[in-house]
Amino acid sequence: MSSLKFHLSGESMTFNGKQTPLKEADFIFFGVPFDSTSTYRSGSRFAPDAIRQASINIETFSMRTGIDASDLKIYDSGNMVSKVGVKETLKAIVEVITDCIKMGKIPVMVGGEHTITLGAVEALRGGMIIIFDAHMDLRDRYPEDARISHATVSRRICEIVGDENLILLGVRAFSKEEYAYAKEKRIFFRTSEDLSKNLLKTVEDVKEKIKQAEKIWISIDMDVIDPSMAPAVGNPEPEGITTTKLLDTLKHIIDSRVVGFDLVEVSPHYDHGVTAIQAAKIILETCCLLEKIKL
Ligand code: MN
Ligand code: MN
Repeated sequence: MSSLKFHLSGESMTFNGKQTPLKEADFIFFGVPFDSTSTYRSGSRFAPDAIRQASINIETFSMRTGIDASDLKIYDSGNMVSKVGVKETLKAIVEVITDCIKMGKIPVMVGGEHTITLGAVEALRGGMIIIFDAHMDLRDRYPEDARISHATVSRRICEIVGDENLILLGVRAFSKEEYAYAKEKRIFFRTSEDLSKNLLKTVEDVKEKIKQAEKIWISIDMDVIDPSMAPAVGNPEPEGITTTKLLDTLKHIIDSRVVGFDLVEVSPHYDHGVTAIQAAKIILETCCLLEKIKL
């Protein structure tokens, strides 16, 4: 489709080391090397290539699903050509994701910073958004008077889909004002402690909440994982969940209504590769979970 050609540049290294022709692909993987609003440890623009490299150096068989990820039909369309501003970047994402969905493919968008999820939500025009994140990202403006940034992305998402269609999972780091806002607007959230100590009850609550949803987008901010396991993120926060807990949660909630997902906020220069490896595993396993529901 036209927007893929227009917005994406080809890459020699592909995710998972394979390249399914676009026509036959079930998944379209693309990188968005955008980190202009990062306020602490920037560099997530380097994550798509770091995650590609990690993906070709880990094992592919998924015990959780019984699927070998090397059998997945993934088309890697490279990285989005860098745009100057956040609005131009979001506009390009809307076009790419709209085309992926029109083609009946599942977009797998890899950031870059969390702001890019806003483009996916705009493309979706409705549905429920499930975000895994240490943070609520519910500030109205940050930094200073910026309306669109990694710290305000969930607030802007609420304005598009409605407060009742946002689900925040694994949160543990937010301002007094964000907490008050979440309570006032009755935003559905569960903390990292809820997931760690009572996974089954938490996923039951989530399933009840998404019962009426027609379509679902999943966004994984890598800082939801504990920094001991995923240190190279833009804004690390202690007391996170394990990768296993995240993937078990996804296993419980993923069904055929999930139209796509993103993984954001890996800032690969802050460790020796372990966070990119965790990210690659999470993406492969999530694709396997999406593949499994078709079987
Ligand atoms: Mn975030
Ligand atoms: Mn975060």
